[in-house]
Amino acid sequence: MNASPPDYDVIIVGAGMVGATLACALGNSALRVVLLEAKPWPPEVTAHDEVDLRVSAITHASQRVFSAVGVWPGMMARRMGAFREMHVWDTGNANAHVYNGEIHFDSAEIGENTLGYIVENRIIQAALLERLRTFDNMTLLCPASVISITTAAESVQVGLTEGRLLTARLIVGADGAHSNVRQLAGITTHGWSYAQKGVVATVQTELPHRDTAWQRFLPSGPLAFLPLHDGRCSIVWSTTPEHADALVAMNETAFLVALDHAFASHLGGQLGKMIASPGPRAAFPLSLQHATAYTAPRLALIGDAAHTLHPLAGQGVNLGVLDAATLAEVLLDARRFGKDIGAHGTLRRYERWRKGDNLAMLAVMDGFKRLFSNDFVPLHWLRNSGLRLVHRATPVKNLIMRHAMGLAGDLPKIARATIRY
Ligand SMILES: Cc1cc2nc3c(=O)[nH]c(=O)nc-3n(C[C@H](O)[C@H](O)[C@H](O)COP(=O)(O)OP(=O)(O)OC[C@H]3O[C@@H](n4cnc5c(N)ncnc54)[C@H](O)[C@@H]3O)c2cc1C
Repeated sequence: MNASPPDYDVIIVGAGMVGATLACALGNSALRVVLLEAKPWPPEVTAHDEVDLRVSAITHASQRVFSAVGVWPGMMARRMGAFREMHVWDTGNANAHVYNGEIHFDSAEIGENTLGYIVENRIIQAALLERLRTFDNMTLLCPASVISITTAAESVQVGLTEGRLLTARLIVGADGAHSNVRQLAGITTHGWSYAQKGVVATVQTELPHRDTAWQRFLPSGPLAFLPLHDGRCSIVWSTTPEHADALVAMNETAFLVALDHAFASHLGGQLGKMIASPGPRAAFPLSLQHATAYTAPRLALIGDAAHTLHPLAGQGVNLGVLDAATLAEVLLDARRFGKDIGAHGTLRRYERWRKGDNLAMLAVMDGFKRLFSNDFVPLHWLRNSGLRLVHRATPVKNLIMRHAMGLAGDLPKIARATIRY
């Protein structure tokens, strides 16, 4: 590698929701940034387009980050929903005389208007991309895919599929759960498959969703109804791979019957009958995966490249957005103080800040998943009693709400308050 200054300061690999958020957070800064994406840019979303199958529950912390980097207005101008309340309950076991535990969260109890927002993934991406195109320090390369990474003392050289070579002070892997950047860097992962798939579909219910997210824990996995802006719900049904594939393959009538059966008993009646679900359905394999390191010489990982978790609490992209905001703060601080942005000390600050928090969230969600998919009667009793106890213990419930909304913990500056730059 020659000794001339690198072409860029930062190469970000992957323009998914997390990589594009990092790029926006570095927009208009003194850093020269290139964002690489393997897939063609998605087409712009129009008001006539059907709601996308992939939606995300977005926390207040992510909303603050999106506001600070100037993409929230673009998301609101397209379309999104908000949820004010959340209701979670467990399947009873009448044979063992164990009945449903339940818990209700209301944003009003902690003085907030919403618990979070439900936004289509492609709308988040469209708003991010629109904002990225306004920055002078940003180069967008698409389609472009990384096939080699060579690290030297002062820089990193990145080879692209079409033979082009780029150099930079730092490469960031935001290239998802199967991260090529992570593999090229030789970083291993811990984790396991849940032997579950998450089935996603859009459903019209008989009764209105009342801006409430509903989640029922079934022995095979949780079934969530997320309220959409147009009165329908986006569902995520986590179940065995065989059942998930069967649900995807069913005709609409059979699917609605299966959904009615799974959701109907006890509180499920709150949404009435399942009326229609004419659109496509898809199933995604679910796993827990955590990178053993978030950094290597002149390299950092963010988002699903660093961690994946069960979607039962809708935290995956939210953790990734906090990774992006934290890494941006660390890099901009280093630049301001004249430090090397790719140096070990700089990158370690990022890793120390995020890895513990992410691991804690992964462990809590894994614990929930295991506790609620176990039909052992004493455990059944324990979790139902626990749900009822927490439901009555207001301070504990409020603490859980603040964590789920991303308002607790050591947040990067732009996630702490709504700042615009
Ligand atoms: C059913 C389901 C429901 C979910 N619901 C929620 C939710 O409600 N809330 C929530 O917070 N999370 C949710 N998640 C998790 C969330 O979807 C992920 O955490 C999030 O999409 C990760 O974003 P990312 O940008 O890190 O990775 P990705 O979305 O995987 O993006 C990676 C990008 O990198 C590109 N890329 C890959 N390889 C290369 C390469 N070699 N070169 C260049 N580009 C490359 C890809 O094309 C892609 O654009 C859910 C997940 C599932 C499965």
